[in-house]
Amino acid sequence: MPKHQIPFARTVANLRAQVDAWHAANKTVALVPTMGALHTGHLSLVKLAETHADHVVVSIFVNPTQFAANEDLGTYPRDEVGDVEKLSAHKVDLIYAPTPEEMYPEGFSTTIAVNGISDGLCGSSRPHFFGGVATVVAKLFLQCRPDVAVFGEKDYQQLLVIRRMARDLDLPVNVIGAPIVREPDGLAMSSRNAYLSEVDRKTAPKLNELLRSAANLLAEGRATSKVIPNLKKRLSEAGFDVDYLEVRHAETLAPLDIIGKTPTRLFAAAILGKTRLIDNVVVPAPR
Ligand code: AMP
Repeated sequence: MPKHQIPFARTVANLRAQVDAWHAANKTVALVPTMGALHTGHLSLVKLAETHADHVVVSIFVNPTQFAANEDLGTYPRDEVGDVEKLSAHKVDLIYAPTPEEMYPEGFSTTIAVNGISDGLCGSSRPHFFGGVATVVAKLFLQCRPDVAVFGEKDYQQLLVIRRMARDLDLPVNVIGAPIVREPDGLAMSSRNAYLSEVDRKTAPKLNELLRSAANLLAEGRATSKVIPNLKKRLSEAGFDVDYLEVRHAETLAPLDIIGKTPTRLFAAAILGKTRLIDNVVVPAPR
């Protein structure tokens, strides 16, 4: 698509005026929520959104409530000019980039908790995280009223949390998952990869490489109790400080010890230098 100038909305009122006009014309709307610093992974969500709705809205908002005080809110990469440039080569009809004050007016005091599915994995190491994510995404859904919203499987637990929230709260939006986009060496694309030092960037793809080989061993019938500790050891030797490595049901996130026919994924979070990396891979069904 030739580059084009994309309109901006900075307020809920301007966003709604546009989306209401589309809906009044019987057009459907897809929302792609992001925190900016866009890369090819984000753009793949935009492309998928295009195939599911007449109009695409991309939101860019670095959400303060999903960062703990000791996390990287202040240094999180921001590049609005670059983001607009990247999006302008795609069929994006509106960029919604509210200010923190527009999203969280003085006295804001509501939090959405999606219990159960938010526990464990990233919910254990970042206890504040899913409350912040669910709250801002609920707001984005209510502000934009999209027919469809697209989230990446890179943040797999987040995708399931949002899907559960939409179902539980009867939010009339179809939540679609998009496959993980990787660098040619296998590293899952992430805005936070920009934090990696040159040396760590060379080590980082090991996370996916070792996860994939562990998933294959599990599919061959090797015991989880052997494969996971061995994976942890190999990651530690490669320089990762492992946060979690877990085998879980791909739809419920229930922990799994025995690999059977149920859809299964292997989830990992590990710190490399100053960067926390997450990844997940499918565990193929045993043959
Ligand atoms: P973020 O800007 O990191 O909050 O991500 C915004 C959306 O893009 C989320 O739904 C992410 O899961 C998705 N996303 C980020 N990186 C990737 C990737 N490498 N592949 C697919 N989706 C991604």
